[in-house]
Amino acid sequence: MHVDLRSDTVTRPTHGMRRAMADAEVGDDVFGDDPEVNRLQQAFAERCGFEASLWFPSGTQSNLAALMSHCQRGDEYVVGQDAHTYRYEGGGAAVLGSIQPQPLPNLPDGTLDLAAIAAAIKPDDPHFAITRLLALENTIGGRVLPAEYVQAALALARDHGLATHLDGARLFNAAIAQGRPIAALCAGFDSVSVCLSKGLGAPAGSLLLGSRELLGRARRARKMLGGGLRQVGILAAAGRYALAHHVDRLADDHARAARLAAGLSELGYTVTSAATNMVFIDAPDGFADYLLARGVAVVPGSRLRLVTHLDVDDSGIAYVLECAARFSSRII
Ligand SMILES: *Cc1c(COP(=O)(O)O)cnc(C)c1O
Repeated sequence: MHVDLRSDTVTRPTHGMRRAMADAEVGDDVFGDDPEVNRLQQAFAERCGFEASLWFPSGTQSNLAALMSHCQRGDEYVVGQDAHTYRYEGGGAAVLGSIQPQPLPNLPDGTLDLAAIAAAIKPDDPHFAITRLLALENTIGGRVLPAEYVQAALALARDHGLATHLDGARLFNAAIAQGRPIAALCAGFDSVSVCLSKGLGAPAGSLLLGSRELLGRARRARKMLGGGLRQVGILAAAGRYALAHHVDRLADDHARAARLAAGLSELGYTVTSAATNMVFIDAPDGFADYLLARGVAVVPGSRLRLVTHLDVDDSGIAYVLECAARFSSRII
């Protein structure tokens, strides 16, 4: 048995998705000629309540293009210390965008303290970088940002004249968990980036949502960053297939993650967080290696992140719990 819990990025395209990719009608997307890309971008913008959307090869590039579209050289963006854009994207905003991050600690629920955000916004003074943007992330570490919190943070940003960007790599997980339409979770942000390549199961692709004017700048940044692709309808077709077939089923991933968390907890493991499709546990010594040796792929560490997705079924969860039970009866 092989169960890969490292990430929801490991999903492979299903048979139906591969068929949609093979049949995709394509053109040169740098000329704006790819019908499949255009259909995806238009449908997604409508679904999320934005004027337009733009396809990117990765979420990292989509986030970076968004930051570069909001901020000029020497501007600053306020962001969580644990946020993907700050922590896991090679420092791209600073390196390639000349944008200074102002990181703030994420509270245990993943939010940023509103008073801390307000205090981090710099007055207009030549000593300081110009604070231009607030970036939030939803879900963050699998946790869904509370709707009231998002509204309060957006209001704070508006009051201070900041633009807002949402890294919504897993925003569909948040929408399914809250039982709200995705447009409701996007409302109020100037830009939102959503991954097709995580729980939705496409092999590649993210969409950046925003106004036509903002996305015009993002398109320029995408070209500069090497992300202008040609017959990319083959990948956009996978994205359209994912949006049609793989959104509602995220609830299954969440149910399996909850079952995994409950089972591990019953066996005496310390579950530190379990939300949407992610379970975090304090791993006893040797547990990660024990799992790896039995075909359960995890990223080794003292705090294990276990992620459910399209390619993990009920029997996979049962197998992982069986391994965990064997391990705990031997050692704990
Ligand atoms: C995965 C992810 C991204 C983008 O990742 P890519 O691998 O570049 O597509 C951005 N933000 C978050 C929160 C992510 O989980």
